[in-house]
Amino acid sequence: MPKEHLDIFLTKEDFMMRDQLRSFVNKEIMPVRQQIDDDKDHIIVNRILQGLTDLGIQKSAFPPEYGGMGAKSAVSAAILHEELGRGDSGLCTARTVTGWAWIPALAANNKAVLDRFAPEFCAKDLKFGCFSMTEPGGSHGGGGCDIENINLQGRKIRTKAVLEGDEWVINGQKMWASNQGIADLYLVVCTTDPNLGDEGVAMIYVPKGSKGLSFGNNERKAGMAADKNHPMFLENVRVPKEWRAAGPGVDAELLHNQLVIGRIVTAAMAVGQARGAFETVLKYTGDRIVADKPIRQHSMAAGILADMAIGIETARWSYLAAAWMYDHPETYGAPTSTFILSRGSLAKMHACDVAVSVTNKAMELMGAYGYVRDYDVEKYWRDCKMIQLWEGGAQLGRLDVCRGYYDLNL
Ligand SMILES: Cc1cc2nc3c(=O)[nH]c(=O)nc-3n(C[C@H](O)[C@H](O)[C@H](O)COP(=O)(O)OP(=O)(O)OC[C@H]3O[C@@H](n4cnc5c(N)ncnc54)[C@H](O)[C@@H]3O)c2cc1C
Repeated sequence: MPKEHLDIFLTKEDFMMRDQLRSFVNKEIMPVRQQIDDDKDHIIVNRILQGLTDLGIQKSAFPPEYGGMGAKSAVSAAILHEELGRGDSGLCTARTVTGWAWIPALAANNKAVLDRFAPEFCAKDLKFGCFSMTEPGGSHGGGGCDIENINLQGRKIRTKAVLEGDEWVINGQKMWASNQGIADLYLVVCTTDPNLGDEGVAMIYVPKGSKGLSFGNNERKAGMAADKNHPMFLENVRVPKEWRAAGPGVDAELLHNQLVIGRIVTAAMAVGQARGAFETVLKYTGDRIVADKPIRQHSMAAGILADMAIGIETARWSYLAAAWMYDHPETYGAPTSTFILSRGSLAKMHACDVAVSVTNKAMELMGAYGYVRDYDVEKYWRDCKMIQLWEGGAQLGRLDVCRGYYDLNL
């Protein structure tokens, strides 16, 4: 096959990282990915995550003075997500969210947070971070999407932060966040006053073991078992005032940035899932004979396989284009503009629809064998659905696509 033209977007280092991760996934994840659903104590999961830490991924985004590599490229991050997503999206999520929680402190160069916590995240041991945004919601609204909805400007956040002397006192409840319950450091999305809108948004770092922090049982999900999601309760939790990511107005901007970059990299994760299922079904339909010829030599199957390839390739170009624009604000404007939000959302909506469709169709082409654990496709099918539901879900995400084209007032 001719060389892929990914070199329009990827550097030589990106290709090296991609190849290294691909062989890590093939060696360390693919042989055991079916055991992850039963790995209740995360023996396998943590072994693999430690392997990724050994490769330097945990510390890569930190500045060199803390032992990191100062990695900032959204293109590189997205490529990493496609490779890890092909291996296991739950594992990828557990890894990703640790980095995600750190982005605001790094962007704001918050020395108090960096000096206190970065050294342990740049050391050799596996650490977990958590970005605790989503709330249970209720009759006032305010679940995950209402907090992400830029039009609502943080007015639906119910987790309250009050400044008392030199400390923030935090009260509230958070749901669903990845690594919640097992993390070493939490970035908690709060409001100082919901009536202030974006000016009231306060993102505050809270370490594990803080007095007043407690957790419920891990959620039982259809897939993504490698990602733990315990409800979190904050009752008069006190932390130093310097542990707020930045300050009024800036924290809201940093929150928007979380959503944009989150959508771009999870688009890549969905492409990885679709690619994994496609590789399996391509081989299976080449080997299995129906009506005297391999399944893929039947025109109906060929049409379905072509649609899968079209979806995967266009989704990859779409996330790479969004990541490239995110990385070049001098040409495309601020990463938090409605234009970049729109393009990142477009990439995510498309990639998730592709992944859900590819895994579903792969199962159809494999018949009963697609539905059993031995062939991996059912796990991709269960896991990838969640990517479509998070980060604004399929509906709010589409509203955000529209925001890049016209002044949508929703
Ligand atoms: C495995 C997993 C990992 C997660 N990781 C994290 C994490 O790391 N951090 C975190 O904070 N959260 C996390 N979440 C939560 C996730 O981000 C939320 O589930 C998501 O934001 C949707 O929120 P919700 O489930 O409360 O749905 P709701 O907000 O109740 O939305 C329900 C439906 O309404 C639609 N909708 C929303 N707004 C509108 C609108 N304005 N117009 C029309 N339709 C609309 C949505 O698209 C969706 O279809 C995770 C969830 C899971 C299951």
